[in-house]
Amino acid sequence: MTFENNLAFAQSMDQQDPLREMRNEYLFPQQNGKPFIYLCGNSLGLQPKVAKDVLSKQLDNWQNLAVEGWFEGNEPWMFYHKELKKLMAPIVGATEQEVCPMNTLTVNLHLLMVSFYRPTKEKFKIIMEAGAFPSDQYAIESQVRFHGFDPKDAIIEVAPKDGEYTLSTQDIIAEIEKNVNEIALVLFGGINYFTGQLFDMEAITKAGHSIGAKVGFDLAHAAGNVPLQLHNWDVDFACWCSYKYQNAGPGGISGIFVHEKHFADQSLHRFAGWWGYQENNRFLMEKGFVPEAGADGWQVSCTQVMPMALYHASLQLFEKVGFMEPLRAKSKVLSAYLFYIIGEVNKTLGFEQFKIITPQNADERGAQVSIIAKSDGKKIFDHLVKNDVLGDWREPNVIRLSAVPMYNSFEDVFRTGELLLAVSKSI
Ligand SMILES: *Cc1c(COP(=O)(O)O)cnc(C)c1O
Repeated sequence: MTFENNLAFAQSMDQQDPLREMRNEYLFPQQNGKPFIYLCGNSLGLQPKVAKDVLSKQLDNWQNLAVEGWFEGNEPWMFYHKELKKLMAPIVGATEQEVCPMNTLTVNLHLLMVSFYRPTKEKFKIIMEAGAFPSDQYAIESQVRFHGFDPKDAIIEVAPKDGEYTLSTQDIIAEIEKNVNEIALVLFGGINYFTGQLFDMEAITKAGHSIGAKVGFDLAHAAGNVPLQLHNWDVDFACWCSYKYQNAGPGGISGIFVHEKHFADQSLHRFAGWWGYQENNRFLMEKGFVPEAGADGWQVSCTQVMPMALYHASLQLFEKVGFMEPLRAKSKVLSAYLFYIIGEVNKTLGFEQFKIITPQNADERGAQVSIIAKSDGKKIFDHLVKNDVLGDWREPNVIRLSAVPMYNSFEDVFRTGELLLAVSKSI
């Protein structure tokens, strides 16, 4: 597609966009009475307009039914998570049984490692991407220590080649195959939070399984951003948060995936709680844990109705657009336009003011484009915010801009380019 660097072109792209009306379903933050151009869905997605209503409805349920709300009313809380499972499954490419909303992301990462990181004296290593999100690093280090190993020996980090920012799939696979006898778990992000690189999860899973390791993914930046096929890729487990691309609100409920091939495995360890107990007999309050079938058997505590109500409302908007394929189709073009516009800024200035570290190939990234300014990155970022463009800043030097297909427009991208040019000239 041939792009143009002018407002009329951006607006004509928006007119042809079948998802253009979706931005009206969301609330944009404002500054001085003007909405922000919001390019920060990678960190916290926007609030759906229906959010207040769905919370208010649950407050009414609580008021009118109180404890009876667990089993009475239109949507008894006892079974409420099942409605979410139906809508979560198509987001990550799973069966309904394989997914469950629960807890928050890092907590779930721990719970799933309890089940799927089962090191022995010989086979005890975890392989991950270098520069993974810090919470994942801390979780993995502490799990390794919990099993009596030293993170220095037990964690293999795959790093980019010198002078590069992203990983090649071949390098990841080569590193997995090199440690054939030692790796117990392959645990990667689906998309790296810093560079925006989308990893080849199918190939990584295959390589991990070929050496007898379990394979899991943290999909914080992938779920709701790119289509996933966790079941078909044969991934063992995964988890994600719902507050980034899935717009379920700050600290929103997390989701887990456990492949159905593990459901019958009685030997899997888990940190159990009453909500993971067989649903039909849960209230017999008997001694001796018997897990519910499927991902639900990993639940620990009772249903968090309020955050789940927000996630449910948000997932209904994904259902409305036909889930991930239409979003991805727009996202590829929209992010390519952002690449183009940044290139135009550099061209006009006559030097590479903004270096893009996200892969150019649309199949290797999602909505996020990470850029490094030649100098004064933080100053440029602050200037963007002051002028109503909200991306985010990641130490030490990256500005992350995510044009989210659900609610961003080509005009948003064009106007961001104008501002990047203006600020570059002014500093
Ligand atoms: C956002 C993010 C988290 C955050 O974890 P919480 O437990 O929800 O605070 C963890 N890991 C990755 C990769 C993330 O991008």
